[in-house]
Formats: sequence, C-alpha cells, structure tokens
Amino acid sequence: MCGIVGYIGHNKAVDVLLDGIKRLEYRGYDSSGIAFIEDGILKCEKAVGKIAELEKKLDGMNFNTHIGIVHTRWATHGAPTMANAHPHLDCHNEIAVVHNGIIENYDYLKLKLEREGHVFQSETDTEVLSHLIEKYFKGNLEMAVMEALKEVEGTYGVAAISIKDPQKIVAARRGSPLVLGIGNQEYFITSDISASLEHTRDVVYLDDNEVAILTFDHYETKTMQNIPTYKKVEEVLWNIDMIEKGGYEHFMLKEIHEQPQALRNVMRGRIEGDRGLVKLGGLISCEKELREAKRIVIVACGTSWHAGLVGEYMLEELTRIPVEVEYASEFRYRNPVVEEGTVVIAISQSGETADTLAAMREARHKGAKLLSICNVVGSTIAREADCGIYLHIGPEIGVASTKAFTAQIAVLYLFTLYMMNLKYPNNPIPSDMIKVIQAIPDKVQTILTMEEE
Ligand code: GLU
Repeated sequence: MCGIVGYIGHNKAVDVLLDGIKRLEYRGYDSSGIAFIEDGILKCEKAVGKIAELEKKLDGMNFNTHIGIVHTRWATHGAPTMANAHPHLDCHNEIAVVHNGIIENYDYLKLKLEREGHVFQSETDTEVLSHLIEKYFKGNLEMAVMEALKEVEGTYGVAAISIKDPQKIVAARRGSPLVLGIGNQEYFITSDISASLEHTRDVVYLDDNEVAILTFDHYETKTMQNIPTYKKVEEVLWNIDMIEKGGYEHFMLKEIHEQPQALRNVMRGRIEGDRGLVKLGGLISCEKELREAKRIVIVACGTSWHAGLVGEYMLEELTRIPVEVEYASEFRYRNPVVEEGTVVIAISQSGETADTLAAMREARHKGAKLLSICNVVGSTIAREADCGIYLHIGPEIGVASTKAFTAQIAVLYLFTLYMMNLKYPNNPIPSDMIKVIQAIPDKVQTILTMEEE
C-alpha cells in the first residue's frame, strides 16, 4: 500500500531516493528504510516514524552510490519497528528487497525456508522474499526473482538489488502498482509516478505478472516466464497535486473510489470458499473465549459505531449471541455490567480513538476479553487488545470515513461467519453466504462507474 522508489543512474542515488520517497509520505507511513550499493558493499539504514527520521540518520554523509531502493511502510504483518521496516535482506546481507502488498502464504514459506536453514530477522511477510531470492540466486538477479515469485501467493510490488549482480534493479508486480520512469541515462521504479515526476514525464506502466530490469544504460520488461514484453512509453500530463489525489478533486473522493480494492484486500486470503471456512489469524489466541462467548459488546465512536450497528444485526441474526453497541464515551464513564463470558469488540480506524481506548481499558478492568478491529497495524488499541482483525486497506486520509466504513462492515461479516464456524462446527457455511460477500467488490465498482447518474 505504501511507497517504493528505486533509482539507477548518474545522479547521487541517496539524494534522489529520499526526495522521491518524501513525495509518497502523504499516503501514510510508520517506518522507512533504504538500501544501496557503495564500493561493492550493500548498505542499509532504517528508521521508525517519519522519513525525516531516516534522513537524520543519513545526514551529512556523502554517499558515493548510483543505485538503490527505498521504502515507506504501512505495516500489515508485524508492528512498525526497526526490525520490520524494509528493506529486508537475505542471510548474507547480499540481497535487499522492498515490497508493497501482502504475501498470503508467507507462514508456509517461512517455515519451509527456516527448515532449509534460513534465519529470519523480522515478523513481516515480506522477508520471505529476500530469502527466496537468495535460495534461487545463481548469478542472475532477475532469474532468481522470477523463480522466487513462482512460489508466492498474494500481492506485491517488489524491487530488489544485489551486490552479486550489482549493476541492476529488478522489479515485479502483481496487484500493487509499479511504474518505470525513463530519464536521460537514468531510470526509476516507483509505486506512484509522483515520486519520479520531478525527473521525467516519460513512464512505462508495468502490468500484473511483469518484471522490469533497470541497468545503467537501458531497461527491459519481461513476463514472469522470461519472455520480453514491448511496452509503450507514455507521457504524464498531470501535475503532482493531481497525481497525489489520483486525479480526484480531493482525498475523500479518491478513497470512495478505492472501495472495491479495499474490500478485496479485506477478504484476501481469509475465505476458503470451498470448505466454507473463514480464517482470521489474529483471533487464534482468543478462540476458546469466542467459542464460549455469552454476550458481545461493541464499543466505538462515530462512523465505527455505525459499522458496529450493522455488525450487531449480522451477529445476532446468524450466531444468536446477544450483542449491544455502545458509544465508547458513554461506556467509559458509567459503570457497565460486564459478566463472565462477555467479549468486548473495540472498532477504530486509526486504533487511537481516545474514548474507545478508555472504554477498552474499563472493560479489561472488569474482566472482559478484548478484540479489536483497526486499520493501523501496531496502533494502541490493536496492541492492547487480546486479539484482533486488521482491515488492510491502506491509509485513510479523508476525515469523513468512507472506505474504512465499508471495510469495517465487511470485516464484521467475516467475523460473523467465523463465529458461526466456531459455534456450529458441524454446519458448514452455506456457499451462498460466501459468494454474496465475494461479489460485493465488483458490485461496488459497478455502482461507482455510474457516478454521474
Ligand atoms: N506486508 C508488508 C509488511 O507489513 C508490506 C506493507 C506495505 O505495503 O507497506 O511489511
């Protein structure tokens, strides 16, 4: 969801990369990191927080490098920490990888790689990529990237460099955007054109399942099967402001239009339709309490409270567990009754809503089990809850919530199905109930094409 910039060319790479990544900062960030090759050595620096923190670490150092990659992270797997910030390296610090998206089968791949002797440093899904590339590396970086990606399920915009094949950046995409910027004897790979627009207006949009190889004097694009593709170079006519808002007049309109993708992200990897199973990894530690839940109290504010009301109808109808939805600001100041078997669900896009957090602490004090539904990974509410579900929809900048609201409802629907699985393990979920939610993103898309009407 967040930002990637790669640069190879005659200018000083660290300066170009930092300028570029700052252009993507408006999309949200929780940490950032850079990797580049200087005198045959792979150097990597990371920081938690704003890009200014990363800049501070690099300040005053005059790096003599012309190739590198940089990343701002919007965490989906693992808290926003130094260890989890990208780039991720292989076991020998020879390969660096940045990634946007979600590797769905990362737990399986990680286990396999660990058994083969690879040592992991982070909790991210991304780190499997650097180790997979290491595993398949036989002297040519693009071949290793292609081999590695064959094993990967999920979405990625990815860029990699290696000191063992040091004259190139290799990038690939599936489901996350990547665009090549073509300058004068310099090339860029970015997750968003705004990052390279200062240098060039000539771009090539990569398609899904395409690989790009950038060297000091040319670029190539290929399929994952190593067959060259021939792409049109397009001229960007928009200005930076228009691009940041995706051509929309303001962020809220952009986010309204992001709903189909947001809803797909909510469901990605979580539904096993054929078996009627909903997998919510963040709830495993609370499974027992959820199975035995006698009552559910949803605490939230504003839009999240409205999502909670929809959740109440779905949960009561389908699981027959009594549900109440409370304003967090009321719950925290009265003396609520919390009996044994009560599960409290706190809903907050940011995961920092003060009243919701206080309501949660009140419920904890009275002995409730706490579940969170948040968008921001590692936020306070997500951390303080016993278990939780993330939305995975990227940052929401508009203050009036749009895509987070629809995503919260989708998550509550998935949670309802999950509770049905737990309560009635012998009754598989009717396939209609799965199909109906899987059809929603396309329906939303159809509605949005009728904007004029
Ligand atoms: N899934 C990756 C992570 O959590 C990438 C997140 C992103 O797109 O920034 O590290």
